[in-house]
Amino acid sequence: MQIEKVYEPQRFEPHWAQWWIDSGIFRAGRGPASRSSGRVFSLVIPPPNVTGSLHIGHMLEHTEIDVTVRWRRMLGDNTLWLPGTDHAGIATQMVVARKLAEEGINYRDLGREEFEKRVWEWKAQSGDTIKHQMVQLGASCDWSRERFTLDPGLSRAVREVFVRLHEKGLIYRGEYMVNWCPSCHTAISDLEVAHADVQGHMWHIRYPVNGLGGRTVTVATTRPETMLGDTAVAIHPKDQRYLGLHGRTVQLPLMDREIPVVLDELADPEFGTGVVKVTPAHDANDFEAGRRHGLPKIQVIDENGRMTAAAGPYASLDRFEARRRVLVDLESQGLLAKVEDYPLSLGKCARCSTPVEPLVSTQWFVKTKPLAEKAIEAVESGRIVFIPANWTKTYYEWMYNIRDWCISRQLWWGHRIPAWHCQECREIVVAREKPATCPRCGASHLVQDPDVLDTWFSSGLWPFSTLGWPDQTEDLATYYPTSLLITGFDILFFWVARMAMLGIEFMGDVPFRQVYIHGLVRDAERQKMSKTRGNVIDPLVVTVKHGTDAVRMALLQGAAPGTDIVLTEERMESSRAFANKIWNAARFLFLNMERSAVEPWVPESLERFLPEADTGTLEVPVEDRWIFSRLNACAEEVNRAIESYRYHDAAQGLWAFFWHEFCDWYIELKKQRFRENSGLDAGWRNTLAAFETALRLLHPAMPFLTEELWQRLATDRATRPVSIAVAPYPQYRQQVTDYEAEREIGILRDIVTMARTLRTENQLDPRQQLEGVLYSRNSALQVAQRHAAAIQKLANVKLEFKAEAAPKSPAMRSTAQFDLVLQVPEAQQEAQRKRVEKEKDQLGKSIANLRRQLEDDAFLAKAPAKVVESMRQKLADYDAQLLKL
Ligand SMILES: [Zn+2]
Ligand SMILES: [Zn+2]
Repeated sequence: MQIEKVYEPQRFEPHWAQWWIDSGIFRAGRGPASRSSGRVFSLVIPPPNVTGSLHIGHMLEHTEIDVTVRWRRMLGDNTLWLPGTDHAGIATQMVVARKLAEEGINYRDLGREEFEKRVWEWKAQSGDTIKHQMVQLGASCDWSRERFTLDPGLSRAVREVFVRLHEKGLIYRGEYMVNWCPSCHTAISDLEVAHADVQGHMWHIRYPVNGLGGRTVTVATTRPETMLGDTAVAIHPKDQRYLGLHGRTVQLPLMDREIPVVLDELADPEFGTGVVKVTPAHDANDFEAGRRHGLPKIQVIDENGRMTAAAGPYASLDRFEARRRVLVDLESQGLLAKVEDYPLSLGKCARCSTPVEPLVSTQWFVKTKPLAEKAIEAVESGRIVFIPANWTKTYYEWMYNIRDWCISRQLWWGHRIPAWHCQECREIVVAREKPATCPRCGASHLVQDPDVLDTWFSSGLWPFSTLGWPDQTEDLATYYPTSLLITGFDILFFWVARMAMLGIEFMGDVPFRQVYIHGLVRDAERQKMSKTRGNVIDPLVVTVKHGTDAVRMALLQGAAPGTDIVLTEERMESSRAFANKIWNAARFLFLNMERSAVEPWVPESLERFLPEADTGTLEVPVEDRWIFSRLNACAEEVNRAIESYRYHDAAQGLWAFFWHEFCDWYIELKKQRFRENSGLDAGWRNTLAAFETALRLLHPAMPFLTEELWQRLATDRATRPVSIAVAPYPQYRQQVTDYEAEREIGILRDIVTMARTLRTENQLDPRQQLEGVLYSRNSALQVAQRHAAAIQKLANVKLEFKAEAAPKSPAMRSTAQFDLVLQVPEAQQEAQRKRVEKEKDQLGKSIANLRRQLEDDAFLAKAPAKVVESMRQKLADYDAQLLKL
């Protein structure tokens, strides 16, 4: 029963973090304390990038998940939280490439195989950072089921899905406009493009019209070098100004190429001159327009950002140098009409900041429409529910406007596309394993497609690939569909929607039943946290400083659905004070247990207290009946709150119970009870039971502190659960509610609180015992009389009790139940009278002063109105104060 004086979480948090894992209690269905039957609760982690380390957003996400998972486990569900990491194609390739560059090695020189080997080596060394951090922070994952998106099993699932989608005609190869990074040498997703607002230019270029003797049209562009690849100019079909151009051609300057004028809504009559150039190979909108009109695509910029042979005299120049030369040449030929400053949103590669080049290339695509239809239906029919519900609309908007998904990436790190190119006949064979010969020509020289899959392709399979699919495993049968997904809104499309599409397609059922979208963690000024602002909170620093439980509690207190979470140093400090408060309560209990040699025990539920009350052999103290009743109400509130993701309500309910009921009142009343009858009564067992139950209620929110105290409390090691984490979660029981006890303690609290207020108002020393009278003509009088000793101790007031109406008194407070009058001692009254007289005197002088100035016309004439107004206000305040005194 030894307990340290001060709450020092660092002393026990690392121990429990490791013990939880060693004990195996988080292993779903096969752990020593887990259920393999009954209700199932399963959840897969949004797999953090293998390159990642924990940031505060992860900590919020993992805390919310952990609260729900721990709660479910304590409810007795067969509970699985499946952890793992994502191989994160481009992110990881960049990290390792950079590391090699520091050693003076260009990764391309190593060759693909050797490079992949280096990445695996890197993963073995540094890839587990985030796992270790999660363990440290007490995430109750089943680490025996940890997965990595490039595991052999998951890779097999990826190939299987690819082949089946291809067989169904839902995967195809095609030309498409992609975001290309000339430096990273790969197509990148929209998510990987960072848009920067920059000051650019709009160049107006004249194109001579053929057959109209010297007439020109002017087009405007922010990227003049792309004109070398123009294959048309477009005008709006209804633009009255250009009716004369219908059916004509223009001469492309510098290239001396004749190109048609096409009628297309790409040209906006309101914008610029109403004539636009069409470059199908270098602009996404032009690409579509080119398709509509059957225009050729002339690629003038290559994968390295250099001009191609098709750029004629500009071939092999860097794209920015080519821009400069094009402008010089246009200028010298008098074809540059004007230049304007023009703000533009420049797309840059999020990894290396190189301006992205839209390029047409041959890529692999998933035809998403048929998949999306089923995923929309799943939400419409309520089989997938978004919380907060407003995300449903966002989901629909995206799904209804879905475009085909470009899944190939020109990287080395990732799932290589299971397609082989016949070197003889150019046949492309999609297969689960490398085919021995070409099915078309029989040749045996087949080369695998060099591209890898978009990293979201494998994470889209995560809810079923991690459970063993394509094998029909027991895990898959038990834990799919998962019950819940908790994630951020930023990957709603990239990840959540794809899991919905692929889960329904391959499992015939939704991957999760509920999706809870959490908010962002912001600083005290509600600013987003960022390295540049310097306001980033590092979870590993603050958890060491304040304790993991305190940081969790601080996060949970702000975690209301649909709002962002403000995390401040003050909030973490006060959460630590909260933990300390509980620690001190435990200390009091432990020291008394030791003194009175009481056997603690663990009741299974709140119900177990009742026999103590029912035996009738011992009177159950009213404060015990009260604390059970309050605990019961708290249990009801917290269960409901966690169930509906109102983590903030759960945190606040627990806080209010522990601090304002258990510590501030119950423990204080108990101290009084122990003084009265030297400790040993039925109430003592009840006290421990109430504390033990309250710890279980708090456990999901503050797992370390509660485990530490619970393990010390429960000595009956033979029959109790091994850990509080697998002990039953307290549930509301109607029969525990005790309104009579609540009323009685309510009256007691009112009396003590009022006595304290009166004392403060009269500026009386708290150490000085006062006398008072409690007047009441109902049962509150008997209640107060019963608790006279406690009131005397808690408020330091000795009361007299009178069943009559109270006389008028300055030191009185009233409720509907009673009037409380404090007798201010004679000496105190005299001192107080003097103090008041002195204050009145000073106030009187100030008032006179103000009056004099405000009646002085000369002063009023030159004083600013603001000053006069504030003096008038001050005068009114002083008058009011004087009246009060
Ligand atoms: Zn890049
Ligand atoms: Zn062939």
